[in-house]
Amino acid sequence: MNILVTGGAGYIGSIVVEQLILAGHSVVVFDNLYQGHREAVHPQAKFVQGDLADAAAIDAAFAAHHPEAVMHFASHTLVGESMQKPFRYLGENVTNALNLLQAAVEHDVRRFILSSTANLFDAPERIPIAETETIVPGSPYGESKHIIERFLHWLDRIHGLRYAALRYFNAAGATEERGEDHHPENHLIPIVLQVALGQREHVTVFGDDYETPDGTCVRDYIHIVDLAQAHILALQALDRGSRVYNLGNGQGFSVQQVIETAREITGHPIPARVGPRRAGDPAVLVAGSQRIRDELGWQPQFPHLRDIVATAWRWHSRHPHGYGN
Ligand code: UDP
Repeated sequence: MNILVTGGAGYIGSIVVEQLILAGHSVVVFDNLYQGHREAVHPQAKFVQGDLADAAAIDAAFAAHHPEAVMHFASHTLVGESMQKPFRYLGENVTNALNLLQAAVEHDVRRFILSSTANLFDAPERIPIAETETIVPGSPYGESKHIIERFLHWLDRIHGLRYAALRYFNAAGATEERGEDHHPENHLIPIVLQVALGQREHVTVFGDDYETPDGTCVRDYIHIVDLAQAHILALQALDRGSRVYNLGNGQGFSVQQVIETAREITGHPIPARVGPRRAGDPAVLVAGSQRIRDELGWQPQFPHLRDIVATAWRWHSRHPHGYGN
């Protein structure tokens, strides 16, 4: 299939592109390189540098490349930032997605995969969190994805746009060629590994007074390759109807446990200091991924935190300055 991938130069997008190409698909990446890296784009993918705020540029990309499916990753993605800059999220994330959706409808593209988020579930009644859980966005970031999911619901009904919304828990890990490189870095695992590389003196633990076994937040870390495989399975299933999946390992690890695992893998003491809570962070987010296992036969290949951190460490130690820009 010929797939247009927005944000295909970013961390998750670039690895999904890599896995799509390995699976025999053709890919056109549409990315403004605001956060992404040109070097992260697989050499067999076509590349269009463009911004989703620019409806004419999106239209031109559809007209030139005739995609049969769209995967949408390009987005502002930080919970904490969204609590400070809500317009970036409730404004830009939403209007950019609308520009993309409008082009998809106008060019008769009937398959759409949305990179959604666990931040839809700020007050879960049950852990692990199933797809039937009540949606309570935890921040303007989560709300922006919720709004886009609702648009998809209506575009399916009105235009027959088949979609999958994949709500990721914490994407982590790397492949041989591609890994996580954000400026500034905000995510726990790369920050901890930057301490191990001597690039930071310590990691700050955002709060140790949560109602969790060791007081630090619990998250469900899912390997990026497992996440990419879920996209490929979801794409294949779209012709049978739209679907929504929560995607994680179903196992939670605390910030403290992540730091300890990284100490074991890197052999570095990784000093940690406790700081205040980060706004918008729920105490526990663990996915119930039974639905995608049952319906699509998805099975994580890297369910263990050790393997996830080890692949990330391999990439970070071989690319200590990321993609080098
Ligand atoms: N975290 C932390 N220190 C950091 C970065 C993150 O304690 O420097 C915590 C954060 O509060 C959350 C967990 O680590 O509980 C995972 O955060 P991350 O930003 O990696 O992903 P998110 O859960 O926001 O998607």
